[in-house]
Amino acid sequence: MSERYQAILLFGAPGAGKGTQGLLLGNIPGFFHMSTGDMFRTLDHNSEIGQLFDQYSARGELVPDEVTIKMWSEYVHAQTVLSLYKPKQDLLCLDGIPRTVAQAHSIKEHIDVRGIIHLVAPNPEEMVMRLQRRAIEQKRVDDAKIDVIRNRLDIYERETRPVLDQFDPNLIHEVNAIGTPAEVLGGILRVLAPIQATAHTTVPN
Ligand code: ADP
Repeated sequence: MSERYQAILLFGAPGAGKGTQGLLLGNIPGFFHMSTGDMFRTLDHNSEIGQLFDQYSARGELVPDEVTIKMWSEYVHAQTVLSLYKPKQDLLCLDGIPRTVAQAHSIKEHIDVRGIIHLVAPNPEEMVMRLQRRAIEQKRVDDAKIDVIRNRLDIYERETRPVLDQFDPNLIHEVNAIGTPAEVLGGILRVLAPIQATAHTTVPN
């Protein structure tokens, strides 16, 4: 399928730093960052889907797969129409999707995965501390309560981690999530720079 978007996946537990790194990457020419968490948070809270999102995220739960994939594909399409994301030039950096095995199956119709950055932290308690710090800084209700954080981490282990098994192990690159943003970005770019250099030259689109 020549129409698939060339993409890399930012993967890791909540608090591993996908959002921070995604924003940094998105500022580098040739990378287009797309976070499903951000996509959902920009919804009108009074709309039907906005209310659905509020219900799920307040409990730390995932929005149902079908709604998520439909919204995601419409959202990406809109970014192409607005010329913000240029599929023929940019590598799409997906942050927060696919998050379930079912999402991985559906999204493979739309994307050609060129690499997966798996941000790993040796100490999971560090992740919990980061999430609590961020909740205070960004006033995020979903991460303010410790039981919601624990629920998010449990759901990650149960539903999201198995997503990695859906991809060729050669695509998966583990990067240390602990360090300054610049250090972590350095680890990511060591993997992504060569991938970017060959993207769009090996697949016609
Ligand atoms: P962040 O970008 O800060 O990590 P999240 O990715 O945790 O934010 O997204 C916040 C909430 O958005 C999640 O708890 C979940 O309810 C919803 N969400 C985000 N991505 C998905 C997805 N791929 N599938 C289902 N729900 C999602």
